[in-house]
Amino acid sequence: MSVQVSEKISGNSEKLAMLRAELQSINNRKLLEDLACLNNRERRLKVRILLYLREIDRRKLYLEEGYSSMFDFCTEHLGYSRSAACRRIRVARCMGRYPEIAAMLQAGEINITTLSMVSGILNDDNYEEILKKISNRSKRDVEIFISGFNPQREIRDRVRPVCVLKPAAGKSTPTGGSRINRKNYVKSEIKSDSTPDVGSKDTRLEVERRFEIRFSAGEDFMKKLEKVKSLLSRKYPRGVNLELMFEELLDNYLDQNDPERREADNNIKINKLKRTRHIPRNIKDKVYRRDGGRCSFVGKSGRRCSSRWNLQYDHIIPYAKGGDNSPDNLRLLCARHNRLMAEREYGSDKIKRTISGAADT
Ligand SMILES: [Zn+2]
Repeated sequence: MSVQVSEKISGNSEKLAMLRAELQSINNRKLLEDLACLNNRERRLKVRILLYLREIDRRKLYLEEGYSSMFDFCTEHLGYSRSAACRRIRVARCMGRYPEIAAMLQAGEINITTLSMVSGILNDDNYEEILKKISNRSKRDVEIFISGFNPQREIRDRVRPVCVLKPAAGKSTPTGGSRINRKNYVKSEIKSDSTPDVGSKDTRLEVERRFEIRFSAGEDFMKKLEKVKSLLSRKYPRGVNLELMFEELLDNYLDQNDPERREADNNIKINKLKRTRHIPRNIKDKVYRRDGGRCSFVGKSGRRCSSRWNLQYDHIIPYAKGGDNSPDNLRLLCARHNRLMAEREYGSDKIKRTISGAADT
């Protein structure tokens, strides 16, 4: 670090220390008034910066400065993050087309984020109406508003394996946090097939195998999700992400419904006098655990069915023929093998009639 730069930094930190001391001594009203003032100045400054960006973009000055695009100029020369650069460039270009945007930004009616979200759908016919619609609206409101302009045909459920980069244990990125430097990211993406651990020695990254889950959900689902999130905030006051939320919900469901999680209750009594079709839960759990939570059907070749889907409790000696609910007379079968066994026992015609009769009633 040169002497000149270090003096400048220490000069700045002295000024900041003075400001901190000054702020501690002023009264509440003045503190709030000053902040409102600064907020206004910040908005005005942002608009000015956007106008400068617009003009630099229009003159293509970034080319002369050695950058191949406005994006490179903003990220590498001005130090914006990738997303901040994209937003500012979109907004600056919109301001070039529709000058009234500057005044709306300055008044705080719209902001860079919401405006950049609608920038792709603004045209000469709709811009006045759209700007009015997003005025003083939250990011979520604007997201809902623009989704109407680009309806999706269908979003199919999708689960796919992905590799995610994370700083190696005990190492941190130059920012000290978990943000990943784009240059290392690209390097790692290329190498990640063959090497699980990449990057230079001070910014080492590990590749973690995870899954991307995608699905669309309705309004009711979102309401329930928000509710669960707020209830969980007591347990996780620092914030709850979707993975944590779903893990809680899954654990909750499994604790109640997974026989392998429930404590074994070996107090099994079969009431021989009073027969009932109802199989007590502790017996079901014992059968489930014994059969390993999968269909127990074994084919002629000795192959055991591996299905865990729609498992049912089958009476080996049928209930109608005097079979009881003891674990020895019960087994887990998938629905298809359960039906096969029933057809063997009673004939397929009778089973078909029973099923269609049940469907009619
Ligand atoms: Zn089966």
